Amino acid sequence: MDLDKSVLRKKFLNLREKYNVSQKEIEKIKEKFLNLIEKNNSQTILLYYPHKNEINTIPIIEELLKRKKTVLLPKVEKDRILPILISDISNLKIGFAGIKEPEGKVFPKNSIDITVVPAVAYDRRGYRLGYGKGFYDRFLQDFKNLKVGLAYKFQVLDKIPFEKHDIPVDIIITPEEVIEAGRERSFLNK
Ligand code: ADP
Ligand code: MG
Repeated sequence: MDLDKSVLRKKFLNLREKYNVSQKEIEKIKEKFLNLIEKNNSQTILLYYPHKNEINTIPIIEELLKRKKTVLLPKVEKDRILPILISDISNLKIGFAGIKEPEGKVFPKNSIDITVVPAVAYDRRGYRLGYGKGFYDRFLQDFKNLKVGLAYKFQVLDKIPFEKHDIPVDIIITPEEVIEAGRERSFLNK
């Protein structure tokens, strides 16, 4: 099981590294994500700061700040993710694994409406491959609200092996599709 995950992780990290991103794809994801936010009346959103060739969330973050949403970014402390409020994207500092992160007060997890969960790949049920450290699985363990993944089409597989501790996302947004992973999971698993 774990071996499968690490083989897949390598393969998809490699594919993502080589992938030629188009601005159009980022635009489409941004538009679908903003629609979701407005449809759900979400106010408080935890995003991630893009690293390597991850979906570029910066245009989304800027738009959310413009719309006066409460925007949070993760800060890694030991083996935990802490959600921190940001008011602007320019005063972040290089943190864990070279990823930019904010400084400031930790925001209460249960007041977050949406957590955007990064991944190397997802499956249609919402299960995900992270970087292999389980940071988000730990963070999401007691997170009750909406979990959303952003992905290029090639990053969505039919099935990824998962373990007991793996927490799936509810929705995956690609440039082409809004996948209701939670629904697919209840159809396919039970
Ligand atoms: P990722 O989700 O980053 O792809 P894994 O799901 O393989 O990585 O998790 C990596 C490791 O993180 C697991 O082997 C496990 O030891 C640890 N882990 C994940 N979730 C938890 C948890 N809720 N409590 C304790 N350890 C956890
Ligand atoms: Mg996991």
